[in-house]
Amino acid sequence: MNASLELAMRCADRGWWVHPLLPGSKRPTGNCRRCRPPASGQRAACGFPERDAGGCRCLTAGRYCHGVRAATTDPDLIRRWWRGRDFAVGVATGPSRLVVVDLDDHHHPLPDPALLLPGVDPASLPETEQVRTGVDVLELLCRVRRAESLLHAPPTLTVRTPSGGVHLWYEAGSGPRFVQGAGRLGWQVDVRAGWSTAVAPGTVTAAGRYQLVGPRTVPARLPRWLALELARVGLRTRDPDTTPPPARIRLPRPGARHGPRDTAAYAAAALRGELDAVASARTGRNDQINRSGYRLGRLVGAGLLDLDEVHQALTEAAALAGVDPGEAKAQSTIRRALQAGTRSPRTVPSPGARP
Ligand SMILES: [Zn+2]
Ligand SMILES: [Zn+2]
Repeated sequence: MNASLELAMRCADRGWWVHPLLPGSKRPTGNCRRCRPPASGQRAACGFPERDAGGCRCLTAGRYCHGVRAATTDPDLIRRWWRGRDFAVGVATGPSRLVVVDLDDHHHPLPDPALLLPGVDPASLPETEQVRTGVDVLELLCRVRRAESLLHAPPTLTVRTPSGGVHLWYEAGSGPRFVQGAGRLGWQVDVRAGWSTAVAPGTVTAAGRYQLVGPRTVPARLPRWLALELARVGLRTRDPDTTPPPARIRLPRPGARHGPRDTAAYAAAALRGELDAVASARTGRNDQINRSGYRLGRLVGAGLLDLDEVHQALTEAAALAGVDPGEAKAQSTIRRALQAGTRSPRTVPSPGARP
């Protein structure tokens, strides 16, 4: 197994969603021709804009088109993507429930003090003479908020980047969701969240290694005060369009070996609908898993879907809604709901019917 495949597998193992980056670069590996928009921001021939590809068939076919949107934790896909290739490993922050604070060191001249910490009264800032980098700016914010330094003996997974930057990795949990923003929190401070990518610790690019510093190998919980700061600068979101979970759930191929095409299309649409409902459930997740599991179980009973594949897909969808895939209660809910549904098979609708 090559080193980058091994790294990608380790990331997925810990629940981080990964996608390939060009070796020696931080950019996503190129889309296929159909999926590449003619100009950034435009729609590609596949019909989906670059940064939103929930229904692109390349993704359901297991290709790594659309960059971060292709991210997966599926070991088979990861093996297929990385085997024999030296792709760098990108971690999709939102689906992995991560917020990564990216502190740059660009040697730019110091801006107007009002731009150091947008929204913070520059008169309230202590000494800013020494400020040179994103690290200094974040330290400044800690002092202004009378919070403990996030950088001295950093209490979280910390990475030094080849360009001299620092990445602080935080676990955002199933609480509020955040979106990415460059320079919003502070000068030379980028926040990677939502549909954003952070280079996996240990990745080696042409520029050098993303080197773990300090003893922490696991992200700490995002400090509450920092979460409030992200909300203050507008990086907290409730918008389902910009909020993970992604629509990318490994879809079993219904009907491939059962029944005619109309029936298969019906089962596929029902499956997608139920998985989306589970993945986007915010309250009453268990009830939703139960309901969707029962409905899909009925299609399993009718021979339209495969029990194991549906179980796996439901587990992944529940994980996107924040349910720990290892949680015994969730697993037993899925199992019981599917079994109950299977015992009462759905009558197959007439051709052309829509669920
Ligand atoms: Zn494609
Ligand atoms: Zn596409």
